Amino acid sequence: MKNNNFRPIVGIDLGTTNSAVAYIHNGKPEIIESQEGKRIIPSVVLIDLKGNIIVGEDARSGLVAMPDRSIAAVKRQMGSDKPISIAGQALLPEEASALIIKELKRHVDALYGEGEKEAVITVPAYFTDEQRRATKEAGELAGFAVERIINEPTAAALAYGLDHMDEDGVYLVYDLGGGTFDVSVVEMMNGLLEVKASTGNRQLGGEDFDWKVVDFLSEKIIGDAGVDPREDIRAKALLKDEAEKVKKQLSENTSVTVELPLVTVKDNKPVGISTEITREQFIALIDNQLQETIESIYAVLKDAGHSPQEIDEILLVGGSTRIPRVAELIRELFGKEPRTDVHPDEAVALGAAVQAGLKSGALSESGLVATDVAPFSMGIAVLKEWKGLTQRPGGFAPIIPRNTTIPVTRTEKFGTSAPGQTAVSIEIYQGEHEWVKHNHRLGEFLLEGIPENVNKQEEVDVTFRYNLNGILEVSAKCVSTGKEMSVVVQDALRRDSNESFQESVQRLENLWKNADADDIGDDEIGYADEDWKMIDDLLDEAALGKSDIDADYESGELTPTVLEEEAFQLRERALNLLDKIDESARNKVRMVIDLLEAAITENDVEQLEKAIDEATDALIDLEL
Ligand code: ADP
Ligand code: MG
Repeated sequence: MKNNNFRPIVGIDLGTTNSAVAYIHNGKPEIIESQEGKRIIPSVVLIDLKGNIIVGEDARSGLVAMPDRSIAAVKRQMGSDKPISIAGQALLPEEASALIIKELKRHVDALYGEGEKEAVITVPAYFTDEQRRATKEAGELAGFAVERIINEPTAAALAYGLDHMDEDGVYLVYDLGGGTFDVSVVEMMNGLLEVKASTGNRQLGGEDFDWKVVDFLSEKIIGDAGVDPREDIRAKALLKDEAEKVKKQLSENTSVTVELPLVTVKDNKPVGISTEITREQFIALIDNQLQETIESIYAVLKDAGHSPQEIDEILLVGGSTRIPRVAELIRELFGKEPRTDVHPDEAVALGAAVQAGLKSGALSESGLVATDVAPFSMGIAVLKEWKGLTQRPGGFAPIIPRNTTIPVTRTEKFGTSAPGQTAVSIEIYQGEHEWVKHNHRLGEFLLEGIPENVNKQEEVDVTFRYNLNGILEVSAKCVSTGKEMSVVVQDALRRDSNESFQESVQRLENLWKNADADDIGDDEIGYADEDWKMIDDLLDEAALGKSDIDADYESGELTPTVLEEEAFQLRERALNLLDKIDESARNKVRMVIDLLEAAITENDVEQLEKAIDEATDALIDLEL
């Protein structure tokens, strides 16, 4: 059966090292190959001397020859606003990632033809709010409507679960890739796939193992020739490349010879290396990191309330699980073999496609339903008793505890701390430590206009909403006045996100233009009409026309109260969503807009509150 209103939706695994895209075909997830028949592409971007943008295998070979013109492992910097320099330019991590996704989009376009497409993109479960947002933005910059951000181990479990719907059981997903490590406990029961607990490390993976080998080889060169090759950018790139090869060979062989006649130069003489490294030596180099992953397994089992014996299947995902020591450690811990029918490189993309299929309806008959959790606690900074004596600022009060099933909305009551206090600062953190300075700061906002009450505490309700994409919205309300303020967390940290998005669009536009100017018609670039159309559409969207309510509002005819202001902002967000969602959701959003407009026009407090509640609920599920 075919749906005529069909808008393709694909699943994307945007990896540190490799990326892939998949779709649902005849009820099964399948990888969409490149035109050259490649199933995964290296997540490497190269801007060559002519300004051409090259992504994937060819870019990877350029890493050693042109280290200053290429970017690898950009995912490790995702969410940072520090630009990365490439070929004399500065790109934000999401912009560089957009170039990778754009390459995957070409595979998709070759399959489906031109036209709008949606995507589900995966992120490590342990990614923060800003890392998730940056990922979503990368997808949008590449021209996808990003339908959902899902966690990588959950995706892997979905891919496996679809094939094993009838087998109830508890799985452990161990995902060790190039840059990140995630581990989740997942239960499958009558087609319901439920993530029970999830944890991980955002900075642990095969990249680190490579650098350990680089250090090992460098020490050898220092010992032999008295020069540190890591100080020479080209030598460092060469050793990194060699280190990865060595590491992979050691998954097959117990010892490998490294033979490089020219690594760097000293006193105009070539300095090389000739040595041997054994698997045992390599394992010793990375032992601490592997032990860390085992500790994470214990932590996640504890959170999920399972003993190792209760785990029915262990799914190994990610290229680094090919290191034989990994399976060995798993066997030691669980006393059983991990599954061998999970593809370490493809499972995540396939699972993202399964999520896409559940969303589009392509898999609705499968009966598979999935739920996920928030992998970390989220809360606010409060005064906290210290050593049983004084109240000190900087205590952490969790509002959503880790491993709560999402989406979730929780409210907690707090009180002002000083007599006569008229404002409170809501500082938002994620993490598990009782003091916020050890946790990850997400943002801050100020709730003002609290009545000056010298005799007792004023109560403040703080509400956290964490949506299916793992993105947080926080609001605070003064109970006695009903005054409320809310923020989408990322906006509290960054400069105006729309403005920065436009800047990104512009920067990519310039990159593509330069490439076109230098080498028109080169297939390798091929950023032509569709891109300009996308950019035009994005710019149009930003300059959307204004309606009557907007005009009244701007002319000052409506003097907004705080509630009205919020209703107005929600209405803006709802309007922005309208053309990005499907028909059924659109009706819901239209209804919400009507409610908000009626409430704004009436300026009735109760009506406004009700409309705001309804709208927030509807929007939180639909937008990132
Ligand atoms: P990501 O999801 O981070 O992109 P992948 O799952 O593609 O990562 O895994 C890439 C990592 O796996 C790289 O660090 C790569 O060197 C490593 N890797 C791939 N094959 C092997 C192997 N045979 N032995 C050891 N490591 C490997
Ligand atoms: Mg991966």
